Amino acid sequence: MQRRFFSLLLAATVVAAASVLLLSGCAGHPRSPFASADSESVSSADKHSITVFAMDTVMELTVYGSDDVLSKAEDLISSLEKNLSVTDESSEIYAVNQNGGGRVGDDTRDLIAQSLTLCERTGGALDISVYPVVRAWGFTTGEYRVPSGDEITELLTFVDYNAVTISADNTVSLKRGMKIDLGSVAKGYTGDRLAELLTENGVASATLNLGGNVHALGAKPDGSPWKIAITNPLGAGTAGAIQVTDKAVVTSGGYERFFEENGTTYRHIIDPATGYPVDNDLASVSVIGDTGLVCDALSTSLFVMGLDHAIDFWKGSSDFDAVFITTAGQIYITEGLEETFVPLGDYKEADVTVIRHD
Ligand code: AMP
Ligand code: MG
Repeated sequence: MQRRFFSLLLAATVVAAASVLLLSGCAGHPRSPFASADSESVSSADKHSITVFAMDTVMELTVYGSDDVLSKAEDLISSLEKNLSVTDESSEIYAVNQNGGGRVGDDTRDLIAQSLTLCERTGGALDISVYPVVRAWGFTTGEYRVPSGDEITELLTFVDYNAVTISADNTVSLKRGMKIDLGSVAKGYTGDRLAELLTENGVASATLNLGGNVHALGAKPDGSPWKIAITNPLGAGTAGAIQVTDKAVVTSGGYERFFEENGTTYRHIIDPATGYPVDNDLASVSVIGDTGLVCDALSTSLFVMGLDHAIDFWKGSSDFDAVFITTAGQIYITEGLEETFVPLGDYKEADVTVIRHD
């Protein structure tokens, strides 16, 4: 059986110079589903890149300075993938799901613990225990189907992040029938761990493009900020770009994975309150902050919330900025991005609404 990891299916990949173009093999159209780091104005003298296929996506790591650390980075990605995959039968998460719990290593424990805090913070819009429902819709197997209302109601009885516990000796316990999936947060966490590794090894300038998650380490070697493109979720190309230094930029979009049945489109992000794929006024959410894990968790959960609730959530927070693109093609940015956000492509003439703290 073809090995699948997290929730993204790939048919083909095309690697371009400064960004990674990924063609989705699911029912959706081939798209470039993530922001890309732009390094065109940087001298290529000390630039070293590797492309790694992991976590069901293409990862492109570019460091400036010594390239010694790249093999260590690749090893770190492999070891995280091995522990965190929901479908790899030898992973820690797979064992926990099969056995209703079990002992896990420190990485898995940390990620579960931090994710549970974010499930709580988002009022359950993020729920790492939504996996039985995600699987029923076929989003991990590729065998897409619309489950019956009764089936969804039954599966929802297994969804409750409050019933996931971790003891001091790293033992995870699940309630009977529960299964967890870290697909909404694992790439963000991986970006954080890679950034830490690179910093420890003396790298001050790097871009880590983990398929939808960009981690910009430091500034460009010339001291200027990185320019990160935000994918157009409704058509081709990019919708805009922002400039960042030492930030994660993580995008969740309904276009990343979906299928259509009887004229209805079903997207891969599930509202844990209903068990149905999110179908609201948002086409994509990009979250910009210091921590990849937090940005990854929030991009998924703000997408679930819809624009109004997501704006309220941002107003009650102080650790991130966001770009919201609606299904009607409007762009909303939070005030921290006002100086650097530039609409591009189809959005060049678009009005950009700036959301401010009251
Ligand atoms: P992301 O691409 O980071 O937005 O994560 C989406 C993936 O997380 C989906 O493909 C599912 O595997 C899983 N997922 C879907 N809905 C949720 C949710 N509400 N909370 C947590 N994980 C989810
Ligand atoms: Mg996410």
